[in-house]
Amino acid sequence: MKEFKGMLIIADGLGGRPTDTPEGKTCLEAARTPHLDELARRGALGLLDPIAPGVRPGSDTAHLSIFGYDPFREYPGRGVFEAVGVGLEVHEGDICFRTNFATVDENFVVRDRRAGRIHEGQEELERALQGLKPRSAPDVEVLFKASTEHRGALVLRGPDLSPSVSEADPHEVGRRVHEVVPLEDTPQARRTAQIVNDILKQSYEVLKDLPLNKEREAKGLPPANILLPRGPSTVPRFETLPQRYGITGTVIAAGALYIGIGKLLGLEFQRAEGATGGLDTNVNNKIALALEELRRKDFVFVHIKGTDTAGHDRNAQAKMGFIERIDEALKPLVEGLDWERTHLAFTGDHATPVQYGDHVSDPVPVLFAGPNVLPDPVEAFHERAAQRGGLHRFAGRVVPMLAGYNNWLQKFGT
Ligand code: ZN
Ligand code: ZN
Repeated sequence: MKEFKGMLIIADGLGGRPTDTPEGKTCLEAARTPHLDELARRGALGLLDPIAPGVRPGSDTAHLSIFGYDPFREYPGRGVFEAVGVGLEVHEGDICFRTNFATVDENFVVRDRRAGRIHEGQEELERALQGLKPRSAPDVEVLFKASTEHRGALVLRGPDLSPSVSEADPHEVGRRVHEVVPLEDTPQARRTAQIVNDILKQSYEVLKDLPLNKEREAKGLPPANILLPRGPSTVPRFETLPQRYGITGTVIAAGALYIGIGKLLGLEFQRAEGATGGLDTNVNNKIALALEELRRKDFVFVHIKGTDTAGHDRNAQAKMGFIERIDEALKPLVEGLDWERTHLAFTGDHATPVQYGDHVSDPVPVLFAGPNVLPDPVEAFHERAAQRGGLHRFAGRVVPMLAGYNNWLQKFGT
């Protein structure tokens, strides 16, 4: 075990804009956050460009950058994170997709991209999709696992496959499912596009008459009658955090994407009771589990999604309320963390302002606290206060900085 330990907490989409609330405050500014403010007094603040100034981050690319990886060089696409996150075993050479259960009519026109955010029958749907065989490529194995609601992941395993294929999801209701086409002129891309089109049609044949869907139709609910794959990716070979720093670590998250990122970077996944990945999640249990895990590990990464969800929902009240719940959950950490030998980093992976309803490139506040952090005069944690922080403004690399405070780094040069 290391002399110093580290904890990283990411509140997804934490950052906001002064237009978020009527008083001209960001949600984080307007929320009551006594524990985050206490941590700000003890530590130092800065502004974080999750990837680089003027780059509008996705959650996946932002997390890679925050963990000290270069997303421009190392981003494999989203599918593999989802696949690993839902618990599929992946091998080098596999092509991974995230999937949606959607509702289409008999002409493949999309009626609901999320099949009414279906929240029952995932096991039945998953079972029905086992053993799909691409007619054009019998040497390719198809693996599928359902996740929460309409989400899931699909893996193609076999020779001569490529992630360079287009998406089937038209991203709009009332439009026909797109024919998947190769995005490069190679036999591998052509073959993969053909396989995906075939799987898509087979999924409709298998799902449309499923008892679950007949029942849904009878109740006036949209049936989950097609699988729409997107975000194709290869399986990357990252240098893991244990390899890089000689540490052990845990990921505590609910969303498949974040579990997958943690696992692919060499962290062990632990599920917190009541963690949902939504606004109804149990933040207290996540923090309690993180404190427990840190007793036997060097590093814990906690991901909390609700802030981003409220931002996408354009709901300032929900975002402020959720930030206050995070703050309350931090009480046992402020009081009970082994502050003589632990460094904490708290930040967001990007801003999701409620006025805009999506990710923007604005920088987000970041906080470091612990024995080796030189405190700055800032006494509150929010965007405006972070502009005066002692850590100024930097891009990505929060985990390498945490590793630095923890004396985990090898010297560069002599
Ligand atoms: Zn995010
Ligand atoms: Zn988001």
